[in-house]
Amino acid sequence: MPELPEMEAWRRALDDPVAAFPIEKAGPAHVATLKTFDPPLSALDGRRLAGAKRRAKRLLFPTEDGELVLLVHLMSAGRLRYLKAGEKGPKTPAFRLLFEGGGQLVLTEGGPKKRAGVWLLTPEAAEAELEHLGPEALGLGAKRLGEILADQPRRLHSLLRDQRVIAGIGRAWANEILHAAKLSPFAPAQGLSPGQVQTLADAIDSELERGLELRERGAKDAKVYRVHNKLDEPCHVCGTPIARVDFEEHTIYYCPQCQTGGRVLKDRRLSRLLR
Ligand SMILES: [Zn+2]
Repeated sequence: MPELPEMEAWRRALDDPVAAFPIEKAGPAHVATLKTFDPPLSALDGRRLAGAKRRAKRLLFPTEDGELVLLVHLMSAGRLRYLKAGEKGPKTPAFRLLFEGGGQLVLTEGGPKKRAGVWLLTPEAAEAELEHLGPEALGLGAKRLGEILADQPRRLHSLLRDQRVIAGIGRAWANEILHAAKLSPFAPAQGLSPGQVQTLADAIDSELERGLELRERGAKDAKVYRVHNKLDEPCHVCGTPIARVDFEEHTIYYCPQCQTGGRVLKDRRLSRLLR
């Protein structure tokens, strides 16, 4: 699933093109993709967008007149692209905006499952839709992070991915951030020293910024990630093979030398069964 660096790179790429011309026609939209019916999509026709904004992993396209907001959540397989006039697009996009001048914003989704969503909302409804999200991960800072962690007995990897606590980090960037901070994915959040909180805050910023910079240059996963999905590849810091542990519904990648003092973490699902 695209996370903060991926979404922010897309936001920056879309910001100017979507505001260049008024919308000529909004839609069509796949019935499973469009999550709202009032106001109707046609309410966008003739209006101009004020650019692309982002909150956590969602993209927001407010209209210039301040009356409507188009909210897009790509989930894991959705892709949003701007096609210039005359550029060939997909035959049946999940969602499409046609602009005057012939440019198009198209949402496509690989695979049979339609999970990506598009909402057309009033600004008040958009605010309510985003209300549950925690503060943005990028630029959070050690002070705020320390306050958040102090209340949390949960383990770091799970906590970092909880959008209600900190918004924008998912599985991949949690792996990258915890490796950069040299912290165990299973360390309880409450137990961090002030120095470790500072290190973690720095790692959140440096890793998300590194990701954003690479994504803006079009880099693919294999180049962007150094720990995530790198099982048995040498750690870029110490050379130890990257390890993997299955935990609940997902998989964590980490370096046993850099992050867990040489200990290999047990598969939590298995160890729970054997306890
Ligand atoms: Zn290492």
